[in-house]
Amino acid sequence: MKIVMLGAPGAGKGTCAKVLSEKYNIPHISTGDIFRANIKNGTELGKKAKTYMDQGLLVPDELVVDLVVDRLKQDDAKEGYILDGFPRTIPQAEALDAALAQINDKIDYALDIEVEDAHIIERMGGRRCCVKCGATYHLVNVPPKKEGICDVCGEALILRDDDAPETVKKRLDVYHEQTQPLITYYKEKGVLAEVEGHDEVTETMAGIYQVLG
Ligand code: ADP
Ligand code: ZN
Repeated sequence: MKIVMLGAPGAGKGTCAKVLSEKYNIPHISTGDIFRANIKNGTELGKKAKTYMDQGLLVPDELVVDLVVDRLKQDDAKEGYILDGFPRTIPQAEALDAALAQINDKIDYALDIEVEDAHIIERMGGRRCCVKCGATYHLVNVPPKKEGICDVCGEALILRDDDAPETVKKRLDVYHEQTQPLITYYKEKGVLAEVEGHDEVTETMAGIYQVLG
């Protein structure tokens, strides 16, 4: 199963993608996580990406597309994958489709998780993440077992620079301008499924399972 997660930053794509990845035993490929890992490791790609990310801007398409296309060629992605945070622009979606068409393949579902902007702004302030393993939490909705500590690896949790309130507003603007057109793009391809995003992950997942059957 090949799934693209759509939805505004903070809609809950990453959390749902992780659940799906475990259920279907296919990799969760998050471009945000890939960039953050590169930043942490001080790579050239990480240095370039950070300047955009810290401003709430998108990393240029040419830095993203090859990275993802290469990742999809790895063995663990043969049976499917969940793309989280990619594509994020029409050119990225077209590049993905072109790469898939070359191997006679296509995306099965584009899941759009819908949450209102005002609610997203409220939510993001409570978001915490683990820079070591990429796990994400929410102070209210998905709290870690031990306050401030990652359940998975024990690292201290942080509020990402790009989750600061002004940056969140910028990211939402960028989302509406550059990413939201993908909803129409995938609708026209007949693979779009719209699911209401809830604070309770299990509720959002219930909507997703209705679609995936
Ligand atoms: P969120 O979905 O919460 O906005 P992500 O972790 O997916 O967060 O992405 C964080 C940042 O990484 C984005 O704001 C953007 O700068 C960059 N990024 C991630 N994926 C892409 C992409 N496909 N194209 C361009 N930039 C990206
Ligand atoms: Zn961790």
